[in-house]
Formats: sequence, C-alpha cells, structure tokens
Amino acid sequence: MKLAAAEIDLSALAHNLRCIKEMAPSARVMAVLKANAYGHGLVTIAQHLQDADAFAVARIDEALALRAGGLTNPIVLLEGFFNASDIPILLANNFQAVIHNEEQINALEQAQLDGPIAVWLKIDTGMHRLGIEPDQLERFYLRLKNSPNVKPNIQLMTHFSCADDKQNPKTKQQIKAFLKLVDNKQEQLCLANSAGIIGWPMSHGDWVRPGLMLYGISPMVAKVGHNHGLRPVMKLTTKVIAIRRVPANEPVGYGGRWQSDKDTMLAVVAMGYGDGYPRHAKNGTPVMIKGQRFGIVGSVSMDMITVDIGDNQAGVQIGDEVEMWGPNLPVEEVAIYAETIPYELLCNVTPRVSYEYL
Ligand code: PLP
Repeated sequence: MKLAAAEIDLSALAHNLRCIKEMAPSARVMAVLKANAYGHGLVTIAQHLQDADAFAVARIDEALALRAGGLTNPIVLLEGFFNASDIPILLANNFQAVIHNEEQINALEQAQLDGPIAVWLKIDTGMHRLGIEPDQLERFYLRLKNSPNVKPNIQLMTHFSCADDKQNPKTKQQIKAFLKLVDNKQEQLCLANSAGIIGWPMSHGDWVRPGLMLYGISPMVAKVGHNHGLRPVMKLTTKVIAIRRVPANEPVGYGGRWQSDKDTMLAVVAMGYGDGYPRHAKNGTPVMIKGQRFGIVGSVSMDMITVDIGDNQAGVQIGDEVEMWGPNLPVEEVAIYAETIPYELLCNVTPRVSYEYL
C-alpha cells in the first residue's frame, strides 16, 4: 500500500466542466490538459472530458500521448511547433497549431504536405510572452490565408497576463485591443483562461480555454474554488506514521528550525517534497486530520512532515488519514503558506504518489 495518495474525483471534474459551460454558455470549451492535466493524469482526465469541444496541451509529446491513449478529439498545441519536422506529425495526427512567430509561418509555407493543417494565430496584446505583434497581424494573417498548407479559417487567440486580479485594468485593455484588432475578420476568437471565464465575461468569445478551474481551483486573487461553485478534483492524502511527545524548547527536524514553547505532541505524516509537497511551506501550513486543522512545524523533509497536534493529541492516532489539500482544505490556501500558486502545487505531485480515480 502506498502511503501518499492523490484521489481524483471524476464527478467533480464533470461538475466543473458543467459550471464552465454555464458561465460561458455561448462559447466552446478547449480544456487545457498540459503538464499531465495539471498533475491529475493526462489520459484519464481527457477520457472523462468528452463533453469538452477540444483539448489544449503545450507540447507535441503531450498531444501524442493523448492520441496513444486512444483520444480522437481535436487537440490544440498552445506552443505550436518548434521544428519544421514536426509539421507532418501535426497533419498526421490532426493537431491544431498555435502560430506565434514568423519562423513558424515560413516553415509552414515551405512544408511539403498532403493536406492543410488547422492553425490559431496568437496575438500579443500585452502579456509579452508568446504572440505576434499587433502590427504584424494583417501581413501574417494573409500569408496564412494564402498558404495551401493551412486550412482556410485562421482562428485568432490572445492570452491574459493579469486576469486573476479584478482590480487590474490590464485585462480590459487587452480585451479591447484584441477585439479591435480582429474586428474586420470573420474568424473564431479565443481569449479567456479560467480567470477570464470567471472574472471577465466580455472575454468569452467563441472559445474559452480553462485549465485551473476544470480542476476545481480558483485562479482569482483571495478566492477558492467553491466561491465560484467549483469542486476540487484532487485530494492529496497521507497517513500518520508516528506520534511523538516533544518537550518544550527542543528543536524539531532538519536544522532544528522549530521548537515549541510548551510540551506538545507531534504527528509524523508520510509526505514530503519527494511527493511534491512544497519544501518551503511555512510553519502553520494547515493539514486536516479527523476533521480538525493542525499546522505543520519544522522543515518539510523528503518523505515526512511533522504536525503539531497539541499536548492532548486531539484524538489523533497512528494510521489516521491526513488531508494535505483537497475538498476540506483548499490548495489555494496551502499555496499562500508556501508562497507559490496552486498551479505549481498540483503540477509538482510526483509519481511516488498513487493515483486513485473515483
Ligand atoms: N491558455 C494558455 C495559453 C495558457 O498558457 C494557459 C495556462 O497557463 C491556459 C490557457 C489555462 O489557464 P488557466 O489554468 O489559468 O485557466
């Protein structure tokens, strides 16, 4: 039996997809499954998202893994392709490429193909990561339109940098800039990530691209999934493997970085950074045992974490389940204690953790 488990609640996944469709009723859904479906398991998650209109992944290997897993749905490559030699693979597997630079357009024009591939043209409206410059749009759009290697509809995309923050005016500027740029084009539009779907209805367009919210987690500042009616899909658990009494003022764990000012009991739980739990989680980061919250103390080690359960042990026993995050303990909250974002915590769960799909 593996001590560390990620329980994946497939009914929560289906629920979250329904929520997305209710929030953006006129848009089609491109479910973002990159990075092993945000740590939830690429192929199994895809198999249970058959009501999505397309899948999106970052890299070609991820898309090939979906095809190898038997999935025939449309797949969009968010980073497009890198080598010209990838282009025939796109055609053979019916992958759609996001085009974000001129080198890709050159390669597409020069490719010797037996048929056209579907593309999305990504415009940089202020994120300044991937995307063509607004003033390149007309030229690149026409080149793609005129290439026999490209399907006639050039779908148009942009990505938000600050949509998680409703107070930040940047998102409205990006939406307006994008809609103005594409105004004269009869093409499918896609702008919104999860934060766009939840916080910026004017960005819904023809397609939405949710990642995080599919997994039941909030992208918005100071919110958790259930504030938007979402249900967390992952429950990360382990077990109490030892209970120890420590006297006051005795340093605990590597580096002796924590000590109690009074006698207390510690539960040692079988999870650490070797499972993907964040090593930098601060003292006091909550875990849940028997419906009670306790704080972790001392350094997170590779395989274990110590939890202060107070001087009366609070009914905690060896073998008790410990929820590290999940439906009773938002990963958004753990991320704050670890000074990171829930995306990173979910992606970092390691193969040592056993996945159980419920
Ligand atoms: N679209 C693009 C281009 C992305 O890079 C991502 C994820 O980072 C998403 C959509 C999904 O974002 P989120 O998980 O915030 O919904």
